[in-house]
Amino acid sequence: MTTPSPVPDAASMPGKIMLVGIGPGSEAHMTARARQAIEEADTVIGYVTYIKLVADLLEGKEIIRKSMTEELDRAVSALDAARQGRKVALISSGDAGVYGMAGPTYEVLFQAGWTPDDPVQVEIIPGASALNSCAALVGAPLTHDFCAISLSDLLTPWPTIARRLDAVAMADFVVALYNPKSGRRTRQIVEAQRLFLRHRRPDTPVAIVKSAYRRREQILFTTLDQMAEAEIGMLSTVLIGNSNTFVRHGLMVTPRGYANKYDLEQGGNTRDGERRGRSLSTGLLGWLDTLQAEHAAGLDIDTLAARHRLPVDYIRSTLLDAVTETAAQAEASA
Ligand code: SAH
Repeated sequence: MTTPSPVPDAASMPGKIMLVGIGPGSEAHMTARARQAIEEADTVIGYVTYIKLVADLLEGKEIIRKSMTEELDRAVSALDAARQGRKVALISSGDAGVYGMAGPTYEVLFQAGWTPDDPVQVEIIPGASALNSCAALVGAPLTHDFCAISLSDLLTPWPTIARRLDAVAMADFVVALYNPKSGRRTRQIVEAQRLFLRHRRPDTPVAIVKSAYRRREQILFTTLDQMAEAEIGMLSTVLIGNSNTFVRHGLMVTPRGYANKYDLEQGGNTRDGERRGRSLSTGLLGWLDTLQAEHAAGLDIDTLAARHRLPVDYIRSTLLDAVTETAAQAEASA
């Protein structure tokens, strides 16, 4: 490797911090801008593994390798170097804003009095996050509402994590679990499974993807009741399906809901009561009509709340709005 390029004159050439998401790890899945940003940089800072993943782009640059636990140091080093006029690339796997360096960097910058008017400019370069990469490898698991939860309790209290697991399991999200397990954190995934099993069927499909688009890539399909026994590590992402997700021909698919509206087996005709380009008959307005009809038929608010699995006060205010609206309409037409 050649010696680092000379530091430019700080006054004339303000530095820059680039937060580069390099995608899952293979060169082919890195964006052109991410590559360009690393090439543009005088200094490249990152976790050893990620530095290795972009080794071919580093000729002649200053390299600062940091360990996982030195995140804040990384951000501080970046600011120091940028203040000296250097262009610094901070490398994150996936996307720098998803459990990555973007947050800690802004926190450090704000603490140091940085504002967006500062001569030191900040650019975040998006990359495909693990959930995108892992989903692509297993089929189409994220085609309906999904969320990501990190099982790392290094910086987040367990009750916070557990509450989120419980909430999304109940609300039937597809979930991508980041940081599911490490040498020291082995019980978190078991607790996650326990919370999910309170709301989801034991045979709910689960895919475990390790090292997506890297040399030791491994894909495993299992089910919710079996997932804690599977091999899971620091380099794995766990995808848990929702109540409609299925596995067919080795592909995990979450339906978007076309079957609610169209008869897919009968040439795709719309189902009775449904119209192309319009909300479902069970969409908001249709549902409100149903709710009013049920209420008028004598079902009380508690019963309706239980039936639709929604909060009592939500049902109450929704019905109240409907009554007010009907009254307003009656007045207007009188
Ligand atoms: N910024 C990264 C996430 C960093 S947190 C992103 O956007 O993807 C680290 C966690 O990400 C790992 O524990 C793992 O759950 C997941 N992860 C990152 N790269 C991965 C890969 N190539 N394959 C599978 N999971 C990965």
